[in-house]
Amino acid sequence: MERRRILLIVLDGLGDRPVKELGHKTPLEAANKPTLDWFAQNGINGLLDPIAPGVRPGSDTSHLALLGYDPFEVYTGRGPFEAAGVGIDVRKGDIAFRGNFVTVDEDRNVVDRRAGRIREGTDELAKALDGMKLGRVKVLFRAGTDHRAALVLRGKGLSPKVTDTDPHEEGVPVIEAKPLESKAKATAKAVNAFTDKAYGLLKDHAVNKARAAKGEALANLVVLRGAGVVPHLEPFPERYNVKAAGIAGVALIRGICRAVGIDVLDVPGATGGLDTDMVAKADAALAALETAEFVLVNVKAPDLCGHDGQASEKIRVIERIDQMMAHLKSRLPADVVLALTADHSTPVSVKDHSGDPVPVTIFAEGVHVDDVARFDERAVARGGLGRIRGLDLMPILLSLANRAEKFGS
Ligand code: ZN
Ligand code: ZN
Repeated sequence: MERRRILLIVLDGLGDRPVKELGHKTPLEAANKPTLDWFAQNGINGLLDPIAPGVRPGSDTSHLALLGYDPFEVYTGRGPFEAAGVGIDVRKGDIAFRGNFVTVDEDRNVVDRRAGRIREGTDELAKALDGMKLGRVKVLFRAGTDHRAALVLRGKGLSPKVTDTDPHEEGVPVIEAKPLESKAKATAKAVNAFTDKAYGLLKDHAVNKARAAKGEALANLVVLRGAGVVPHLEPFPERYNVKAAGIAGVALIRGICRAVGIDVLDVPGATGGLDTDMVAKADAALAALETAEFVLVNVKAPDLCGHDGQASEKIRVIERIDQMMAHLKSRLPADVVLALTADHSTPVSVKDHSGDPVPVTIFAEGVHVDDVARFDERAVARGGLGRIRGLDLMPILLSLANRAEKFGS
């Protein structure tokens, strides 16, 4: 039995609801997308509830489910995946936070929650904080995009049950972390020690002296939120016995990949934004398939249009995705099992994620091709896959790739 390779393409936030201005069509139904429809016509189709019917997924919990990890078991917060996404080598038991560089006055009142929308110098500032020792707790710290950052506390007996230090508003002091359970006292103490030390290290840092000279807001403190504990995640390559690669522009999805041991590839031009080079992503996926047996591609753009409430922009993005798929179709090796789906719906009318199911199409040698002619929310509902959950996807793909373990004899 020939073992096949798997290409999973996740079109982030693709699903939508009927839009009045589009004659009650969804952006997918309104878009001109001959190649996506070709895959639907030549594949097997269905609806997919990323977590469960009606559950509104985050991109993180949904990607975990699509990769076969039950988010209800492994997910405690976004922090661990953000930290992995900015390149911190997170380990089981680490406590991870998302952070912001902020501007505070001498009384540590937050004056600017984004430190003047700082874009440069954050790597140097992060270096000053990385490796800090707080008693027996070690700090790992990296800058993210713009004013964002991630912090990891590593040590014995730490707990994620502490309050944020981020006041989530301006004109008020940075909050002192409080334990939310008795086991979290040491963690809260470490967080507060971090706040004190960070202020000492940042306030007169060369980057801030230069900013002061230019009249720019200082990045003289970091506020923290969203603590989570890094869960035990059986590495994806061991779990499924495949070499795996991931292509994603956004840090959170890169973090999910890294946290489960999927190699993240850098693709020049793949930004995670609306300007992303989708054809470059397709080429990178094809190149990755030369050595990896499983490749995940995330295309973030549809989600951004959904959050912005821009139906016409979402249609344009879908038509660009169609061009990406045309590029891929003409070069796709015959032994590849291709799955096309989304991690959730981001309806333009909602401007956020909804609990609606998303289309899923699988194109591979040997699938029971159904009568579905179009890749959209309504048409795929009549397809041969019926309605599945995110956690069902990997077993189906492994089976089609002749990689599933037999249950029984
Ligand atoms: Zn998403
Ligand atoms: Zn989103």
